[in-house]
Amino acid sequence: MRGLTCSSFYALIKFRTALFSEVKSIMASNAQLKLLTDFLNIPDVKVTHFKQEPSLGIILSVSSLNSEVTCPHCGQKSHKLHHNYSHLIKDLPMNGQNVYLQVNKRQMKCENCLTTFSEPLDFCEKKRNYTKRLASDILSQVKHSNIKSVADRVAWRQP
Ligand SMILES: [Zn+2]
Repeated sequence: MRGLTCSSFYALIKFRTALFSEVKSIMASNAQLKLLTDFLNIPDVKVTHFKQEPSLGIILSVSSLNSEVTCPHCGQKSHKLHHNYSHLIKDLPMNGQNVYLQVNKRQMKCENCLTTFSEPLDFCEKKRNYTKRLASDILSQVKHSNIKSVADRVAWRQP
């Protein structure tokens, strides 16, 4: 776990216990969001909010720490936001509960060539609604099991 000290680890355990208790909605402090960001461990991504949906699982709202995005057409860095949209991406489960990332995916407008483009997400393939690491984890489990038991274990279903 990146940069997680012993005391912050115990704070995370305490926080996670509260998260998985009967409490469905918790106002997280900045320190708790920092812990969740460390626990999530996706480079250049921070957790900004979270909630628990009984029918879905844990939903972590995340956003990029990068203010600039490289234009895929001309290679120029752009920080001009054209449009925001959010979507859910399934991530690795936590404590047997489904985890979804509510991603604020930015549509940028290049100030050089004036084209608009979507911000690429390093942790998710284009047009996919699951993280690369979830796909990798499932493939790894399938190698040592069968597809039905893996599907049961990760409780795979679409939101
Ligand atoms: Zn451009």
